[in-house]
Amino acid sequence: MPVTMDTLVSLSKRRGFIFQSSEIYGGIGSCWDYGPLGVELKQNIKRIWWRDYIQRRPDMVGLDASIIMHPTVWKASGHVDNFTDPMVDCLECRHRFRADKVDEMPWVHYCAATKGNKFTIPAGEACSHCGERRTQCPDCGKGRLTAPRQFNLMFKTFMGPVEEDAALTYLRPETAQGIFVNFDNVAQSMRRKLPFGIGQIGKAFRNEITPGNFIFRTREFEQMEIEYFVNPRDTVEGKPADEYWHERWIADSLAWFQRYGLRAENLRLREHEKDELAHYAKRTADIEYYFPIGWSELMGIANRTDFDLKQHAKFSGKALTYFDEERKEHVVPYVIEPSAGVDRALLAFLADAYQEEEVRGEKRVVLRFHPELAPVKVAVLPLLKKREDIVRTAHTVRDTLARHWAVVYDDTAAIGRLYRRQDEVGTPYCVTVDVQTVGDSDKGESADGKVTIRDRDSMEQARVPIDALSTVFLDLLNGGAWSAVASKYPAAKA
Ligand code: ATP
Repeated sequence: MPVTMDTLVSLSKRRGFIFQSSEIYGGIGSCWDYGPLGVELKQNIKRIWWRDYIQRRPDMVGLDASIIMHPTVWKASGHVDNFTDPMVDCLECRHRFRADKVDEMPWVHYCAATKGNKFTIPAGEACSHCGERRTQCPDCGKGRLTAPRQFNLMFKTFMGPVEEDAALTYLRPETAQGIFVNFDNVAQSMRRKLPFGIGQIGKAFRNEITPGNFIFRTREFEQMEIEYFVNPRDTVEGKPADEYWHERWIADSLAWFQRYGLRAENLRLREHEKDELAHYAKRTADIEYYFPIGWSELMGIANRTDFDLKQHAKFSGKALTYFDEERKEHVVPYVIEPSAGVDRALLAFLADAYQEEEVRGEKRVVLRFHPELAPVKVAVLPLLKKREDIVRTAHTVRDTLARHWAVVYDDTAAIGRLYRRQDEVGTPYCVTVDVQTVGDSDKGESADGKVTIRDRDSMEQARVPIDALSTVFLDLLNGGAWSAVASKYPAAKA
């Protein structure tokens, strides 16, 4: 059974991943705050993306452009004229909907065949009593909807102390344009040869008409975008370079999500139909994920041709070309754009990691995060919090491990409860300090200097010397198998 959105929302709040923004004031539509564990998870996603795509690749560099840009950027990019969604209003309850999404919502119906009884009918279906399809407002079931009107999704703001049209600017609705306008700066300063890419992670803002579904569609969100510039005159493996690199980026992106835990059966590729393609795009493919709301876009990978660089050259009067030494000619590069949402990626990783299982007659909730994503890597737990020597040793172990990883100390419950709590937030390993570790002089038992490590997924335990902990975790947290630890060190009782 796939996890429901309600379960994820409540786990996120209860365990400090995600809170509703401004909750004490009743919340604000579609804005969410990442709590102590959520911010770690989000940072981890961004860190591995940056490391894998920017730092490890010789053909990539990074950028951090400002959110507010020259207003002409958005004229040139087409956003002022075209970044719109069709909107309809209910004349009765004044609710506003995206015209192209109204039929994807369940709808309220007062059925004449059953004395006007009220039903909520699943999206796109007809009433099973009278056969009617939706014609009125899906929310109140009574009001007529207006004809669609275009609504621009960009947030407007004013630069400086005067609110006048000359000072009008926008919060960026995507990070991509910051890359295009810096194409020449980056190419020159970094002496880049095609093909090369520029990546950026940052906030984007869209005044979505119907936000919702938790962090899936919000008005403020984060993107991880790459613009990969290629020479359209080149061929690679018998294909035009842009088509070859488009394929490569689709395959790389799918593999990346799987590498960090998304199951293959929950991912699929959806090609944009001809009539759905943006006018400048040669081809666009979306990676869709089987979210709790059904199959929906996780990221898009578009071949944007030379549209953006040509537009910015036209509006700025600056040449945005590349000199092809071999052919002795200036070309406008084509661009492949892999564009992912940080928040949607986080939602997908959270949903895929969530599992409920039965252990000794009790429900265990576990987030099976990849170790690189887990907000906490190791939890150090004292078996008896009244024993000062156990507590002191546990703190020392935590301090040593915390030099390398996100490690917590917790003594606020009995050990079984502490394990369950760590399972529920996806901590891959727990370390328990007990009486044997420090010894018991009253009973004449000497310290063995060993602790118990517990593996989240198998719940197996091994007894490991404190001195070996850093080496053991270095291996485990870098993808090493638990079985190697289990075969080297003696098992401890569960
Ligand atoms: P959708 O069709 O869902 O509105 P889009 O096709 O407009 O998305 P893009 O412009 O391709 O989205 O943006 C790239 C990525 O940014 C998306 O794949 C998604 O992960 C993320 N994204 C876009 N809009 C939002 C939003 N309102 N909230 C959260 N993430 C978003």
